[in-house]
Amino acid sequence: MRRVAIYPGSFDPIHCGHIDIAQRAAKLFDHLVVGVYDRPSKRLLFSTEERVALARKAFGSISNIEVRAYSGLTTAFADSLGARVLVRGLRVVSDFELEYQMALTNNQLAPHIETICLMTRKEYAFLTASIVKEIFMLGGNVSTIVPVYVHDALIAKRDQLRSLGNTAGSL
Ligand code: ADP
Repeated sequence: MRRVAIYPGSFDPIHCGHIDIAQRAAKLFDHLVVGVYDRPSKRLLFSTEERVALARKAFGSISNIEVRAYSGLTTAFADSLGARVLVRGLRVVSDFELEYQMALTNNQLAPHIETICLMTRKEYAFLTASIVKEIFMLGGNVSTIVPVYVHDALIAKRDQLRSLGNTAGSL
């Protein structure tokens, strides 16, 4: 049987911590679908289309990774793809409570779907998309934590916001 897993998240934007988890998960399954959730409760910088495009650039060379946007329940998305595993990344201890809560909730909704968590690499243990945006906004170097095309997208987004009259502080 073809083993399909999904790796859901907001990926706003995708960074090296996400990429590392997806690359490692892709070695464990026949097919990995990176699911870009279209409406997380977080305030987004990039549109769904932009987040999907950046994620596709990240995984273009890996034949068993596919990137798709989704809305609604993550378990319904998994079912629609025939996926029986939901992959998540675990960073510091503070992630555990939320991941545990989500795994239990998803298990209630869909007992046939398992959540597995992969531990982050230590160099990405404190890396979040919010931190990427904050470092960038403050003029810091993000070249070791995002691919070059994400860096370019951050510059373009900042320029776009500035031209609309927003300050970089609104990132
Ligand atoms: P972020 O927390 O960076 O905003 P998401 O909310 O999109 O990212 O998270 C999607 C998944 O990726 C979650 O399971 C999250 O724990 C995982 N993840 C995010 N950052 C990292 C990282 N630095 N190392 C490992 N996993 C991560």
